[in-house]
Amino acid sequence: MKITEILKNKKANLSFEVFPPKTLTNYESVLNAVKGIAELTPDYISVTYGAGGGTSDYTVSIAKEIKSLGITPLAHLSCISHNKSDVREKLVQLKEAGVENVLALRGDLPENFAGNLDYRYANELVEDVKKFGGFCIGAACYPEGHPQSQTLFSDIEHLKRKADSGCDFLTTQMFFDNDIYYSFLSKVQASGIFQPVIPGIMPVTNAAQTKRITSMSGTYLPTRFRRIVDRFGNNPLAMKQAGIAYATEQIIDLYANGIKAVHVYCMNKPDVAAAIKANLSEILC
Ligand code: FAD
Repeated sequence: MKITEILKNKKANLSFEVFPPKTLTNYESVLNAVKGIAELTPDYISVTYGAGGGTSDYTVSIAKEIKSLGITPLAHLSCISHNKSDVREKLVQLKEAGVENVLALRGDLPENFAGNLDYRYANELVEDVKKFGGFCIGAACYPEGHPQSQTLFSDIEHLKRKADSGCDFLTTQMFFDNDIYYSFLSKVQASGIFQPVIPGIMPVTNAAQTKRITSMSGTYLPTRFRRIVDRFGNNPLAMKQAGIAYATEQIIDLYANGIKAVHVYCMNKPDVAAAIKANLSEILC
């Protein structure tokens, strides 16, 4: 099913993200995690695309497995390390696998990047996926601004070009303060972007994740969140419980404010996904 169709449903939607294995050795364990997450019957499961395209074959095969488990897959595809013929080949593979949803990304610039004659920005990939035809197309957005953009305002200008290239929906980078998302949403709509902006929520279940998040994306960590990490970071079980509770609160607040779909970055952890889903059991009815 296309994600645009899923979003038309009246009920609140919940979806999860998984990442593919880096090597064949890990394939079975990732597949088991995917099966555990699929058992929770989310509205869809997204599968990321390895930086540089290195694990791209596994993205297609994991998306195919998700579909065979009866869940709608959303396959990520990044273009910065590909030319147009690589992209076309990937789209053919996805179509043959019955995958109907693609999240079109530029990808992070590789080290010593020498330029790409075919793709510079994600909007060019969105255009090509649109021309290829048949896919529901998503793209990424950044409530706090993309780390390479000079201002949030210029990032939203570029986002507008991407949205106008043929996006059906957008998914956000993680955030830990919902007011940042609400403020972004109003700026985006004021810029004439009316596609659904699906919030991405990350349950932080260990202290090490926090360091990675801030160093990679510079995401703002509210005091309330930092106190949790300071107090429980050395106690793995307590940190996990508190991280799940924090993410649950964010999700409930989003639904309470009329947001219909939430995407959870559950890091291939079925137990975390299950705990979030259980916390929302009456809300998702
Ligand atoms: P773009 O939309 O191209 O934007 C990149 C930067 O260029 C921004 O600063 C933007 O403001 C600027 N820009 C855009 N267009 C122009 C223009 N025409 N002129 C000048 N500047 C412009 N990475 C992966 O490798 N694999 C994944 O599976 C993956 N999944 C993700 C999922 C989500 C929901 C998110 C939020 C990110 C994901 N990423 C993934 C990370 C993403 O690839 C990086 O953040 C990357 O640096 C930007 O990708 P983009 O598609 O947002 O790029």
